[in-house]
Formats: sequence, C-alpha cells, structure tokens
Amino acid sequence: MSGASNFDVELAEGRVLQERDRGLARIAHQLGGEGADDCIACGEPIPAKRRQAMPSAQRCAGCQEKAERRGRQYARG
Ligand SMILES: [Zn+2]
Repeated sequence: MSGASNFDVELAEGRVLQERDRGLARIAHQLGGEGADDCIACGEPIPAKRRQAMPSAQRCAGCQEKAERRGRQYARG
C-alpha cells in the first residue's frame, strides 16, 4: 500500500508550488511586472502621481507614449 506516501508527495508538491509562485511573484516585481519605481526605458523615476494612477506602469509618460506608438505600428504591420 502506498496511499500514505502518495499523500506525503502531494503535500510536498503543494509546498514546492507555493514557494515557486512566491519566487515568480518576487521576480516579476523585480522585473517591473507590478510596476516600476524607475522607467524601464530611460531610467528616470516615475512620478508617484503616475504610479498611483497606473500601478502597473513601467515607463514614464514620455516613454510609454513612444512604446505605445511603436506597438501600434507593429500591430498595424
Ligand atoms: Zn522614460
């Protein structure tokens, strides 16, 4: 019978997944996935007002505008 050990494995896997999710969340934050303090494009600090208005902002207003313009061009082909 291996029922007990299967349960142990499931517990262990659950713990690993939790730790992995925490690690990914931390990495995402470091990479700016949850918004960045400094613009990822020019490195200038993003104004607190802008971060409040758009918590996921990773660029200052100027660079965001440029990126969106570029994105639209790519989207258009
Ligand atoms: Zn910028």
